[in-house]
Amino acid sequence: MKDDIGEVLFSEAEIKNRVSVIAQKLVVDYKHKNLTIIGVLNGSLVFLSDLIRQMPLPVKLDTIRANTYPGTSTTAAAETEIVHNINVNVKNEHVLIVDDILDTGKTLSEVIRLLSEYNPLSIRVCVLLNKRARREREIEPDYCCFEIEDKFVVGYGLDFDNRYRNLPFVAILKDGITIASKTI
Ligand code: 5GP
Ligand code: MG
Repeated sequence: MKDDIGEVLFSEAEIKNRVSVIAQKLVVDYKHKNLTIIGVLNGSLVFLSDLIRQMPLPVKLDTIRANTYPGTSTTAAAETEIVHNINVNVKNEHVLIVDDILDTGKTLSEVIRLLSEYNPLSIRVCVLLNKRARREREIEPDYCCFEIEDKFVVGYGLDFDNRYRNLPFVAILKDGITIASKTI
């Protein structure tokens, strides 16, 4: 797996530091509030588990899973389908959505739209990475560990064909890596 890695953008130590800083901000902002954290599967898993263990608050935790298909020439808008919904009642809760990366914004804007139908007290977004260059929806993260350029990254939850999620750092793959007939 190591041979596939090109440049490491954020090391394990850098990530650890930023996650602690963001967790401390969250603790200040959500102290004395009913907080439900909703992780977006699968990409948020590693970030989510590190983040919540740095937050000594009585939070509720649940997950949601959305598949976004890119728009085609006939359907300009991407289709986002919620394939696994939350199981908690968020009506009297402040909701914090946690995801790996905010890219075009299609997935998170749809997740926000869906969760707002349950009338939570508030909804905010926390991401590990913010890739502004490709944004197609008006959405900005409320909490973000790192800004990145328009590059495809893997590690710390982010995958290429479901691999590399377990890398403890965020990196760019080397050119020409092929998995299951996909080439990057
Ligand atoms: P959006 O709907 O914001 O375009 O899509 C967000 C999802 O696309 C992320 O949750 C992630 O699964 C995927 N994604 C976007 N950029 C990257 C990237 O650089 N690397 C990886 N591995 N996934 C990405
Ligand atoms: Mg994702």
